[in-house]
Amino acid sequence: MEFKYVPTTCPFCGTGCSFNLVVKDGKVVGTAPFHRSPVNEGKVCQKGANANEFVNAHDRIKTPLIKKDGKFVEATWEEAYKLIASKLGQYSGEQIAVIGSARASNEDNYALQKFARCVMQTPNIDHCARLCHASTVEGLTQIFGSGAMTNSISDLADTNCAFIIGSNNFEAHPLIGRRIMQAKANGAKIIVCDPRRTATAKQADLYIQQNSGTDIALLNGMMQYIIKNGWENKEFIQNRTLGYEEFKACVMQDKYSLENVSKVTGVPAEDIKTACEWIHEADKTAAVYSLGVTQHIVGVDNVCSVGFLQMLTGNMGKPGTGVNALRGQNNVQGACDMGALPDSLPGYQKVSDAAAVKKFEDAWGCKVPAKVGITIPEMFETFDKEPSKLKAMYLMGENPILSEPDIAAIDRALKNVEFLVVQDIFLTETSEYADVILPATCYAEKDGTQTNTERRVQKLRKAQEGPGIAKNDWQIIADLAAEMGHADKFAWKNASEIFDEMAALTPLYGGMDYDRINSEGLQWPCPTKEHMGTKVLHAEKFNGMPDGKAKFLPIEHRSPAEVTDAEYPFALTTGATIWHSQSGTMSRRSESLNNECPRSWIEINTEDAKELNIKNGDVITACSRSGEVNAPAKVTPDIKKGVMFMPYHFSESRVNLITNPSCDPVSGTPELKVCAINIKIPKEA
Ligand code: SF4
Repeated sequence: MEFKYVPTTCPFCGTGCSFNLVVKDGKVVGTAPFHRSPVNEGKVCQKGANANEFVNAHDRIKTPLIKKDGKFVEATWEEAYKLIASKLGQYSGEQIAVIGSARASNEDNYALQKFARCVMQTPNIDHCARLCHASTVEGLTQIFGSGAMTNSISDLADTNCAFIIGSNNFEAHPLIGRRIMQAKANGAKIIVCDPRRTATAKQADLYIQQNSGTDIALLNGMMQYIIKNGWENKEFIQNRTLGYEEFKACVMQDKYSLENVSKVTGVPAEDIKTACEWIHEADKTAAVYSLGVTQHIVGVDNVCSVGFLQMLTGNMGKPGTGVNALRGQNNVQGACDMGALPDSLPGYQKVSDAAAVKKFEDAWGCKVPAKVGITIPEMFETFDKEPSKLKAMYLMGENPILSEPDIAAIDRALKNVEFLVVQDIFLTETSEYADVILPATCYAEKDGTQTNTERRVQKLRKAQEGPGIAKNDWQIIADLAAEMGHADKFAWKNASEIFDEMAALTPLYGGMDYDRINSEGLQWPCPTKEHMGTKVLHAEKFNGMPDGKAKFLPIEHRSPAEVTDAEYPFALTTGATIWHSQSGTMSRRSESLNNECPRSWIEINTEDAKELNIKNGDVITACSRSGEVNAPAKVTPDIKKGVMFMPYHFSESRVNLITNPSCDPVSGTPELKVCAINIKIPKEA
């Protein structure tokens, strides 16, 4: 029997590796290397290697389902569309919330935000970037004028020093970790700052184990030491930045002296000095961060502080340098780019900009709400506390009952949604609350594009038909729009037509068209048809800033929302394992991945465990002000004393039952990296 090989892009993390899907008898049966990708050069991690396994899982949704008398019954598309159209038609735009998907393609997200704004007339559209890198978008836009990773993944192999803070990329972005190991093999110094001695930290030449929630103190202390030694890049500061004197006055305060910072962060002063010396000695230092920086109430300030370190030392605008924000899910960059955000139309064109709104109104032939909508945390808070204001929700490819903090509050909110549509590839914990469930195709069953963390737009290619009568997400949205009287605005025949419509309206993608996206992809900004894409942002100037210069700001350390006390004496942090992705909807249906890592755990420091009389494997209960959750203890010296860790992939041990809902006030990103907890000691320990 003949095998067919269909090159596509990984559905798991934001690295955006390419591989072939192996197809036999019209069904995806395996994966095989695809060597021409500049991202991963034919290599993949375990998630990518097994990315075929969930595609034909027995529990894919195959038909629309409508809830009748508390039970889901199969329905035709026509029945589902008619019901949704009549229900949503009863509400005003302001009463409807729409959530896009970082798992879905650019075309799916473009279609959904157009549907929200054009058909529903609601400004309330957001997606899960709010949970992870909204702080990056806000922070980097404030100081650089662009909210994306400044450099390219391949650059990391050429750096002389990798300064990694809050990123366990060896597990969360393994093929980016590979580039960092290539740099190490070439002699680069690797510095890792993380309260947990992660797989990434174990590869470091210098490991800095700071207390949770003290990143700004650490960075300000480093920057003070750099300035005191005269190691700042005076030329870069003079020619390419503004606001330096005010920033300097802030970091030179006595509270950021090595001695004081050492007390706040718990990091020996000698280690802080060594990190600064290595950055000073390196020609090129690349800063790398991820959710350990962004998921704090000071997420935006954390992001800015990482940027300031790079500005201060002139490590911007060149290969091997920059601020490398590693995006979590496969297409979280693309979903942001497509305008699945409450303040931005595609390409970060602001809804507060009358000219931008008019451009889209003229192109789409409809009114576009010219106001900033509400974010995901605000949506759920409104459903929970003021349900008269928000009535309906359209949810595409997200599972908030697992992924949002403080699940008890999300449960109350979802129960208050008068009409909930969930569009997904599997029944999820969230779809149980739905009134209508719509079956979508997965990445292996559609053509389209997605954009990885380094702004590279790459293709998805259809390898098999979807299950039952499932349809592409964008097709479902277009059909529903037609049912609601807007067929002319959604009359696309394929993903290519959607991409080209989007690119014509989105200057960052302006030089791209669907046919130009070849096996290497194209990195935005790509302004003209002749442009070959942009590997390094801000090479000559910071284009998004009014004067072309990056902006220093004075930023002070602030404590997390929840600090430990006698009642809750431990700080919980959350994160990923190499075996799973996000809420596990896909990876936990992969037998190979789930066999390797079938259950959750609570990581606890060896000394803490001894004091609490907890042994490895004891099932313990972690409790916080929000709730409690059980999992087996994993006793290890790798986690800092006083800190505990839980992964976030497991529905049977939902860590977000105990996380706190406090958010960064600017980005709305919740503080999933610090939560005060206590442990209930097992009776038979
Ligand atoms: Fe690459 Fe990430 Fe997929 Fe692994 S999960 S193969 S690192 S894109």
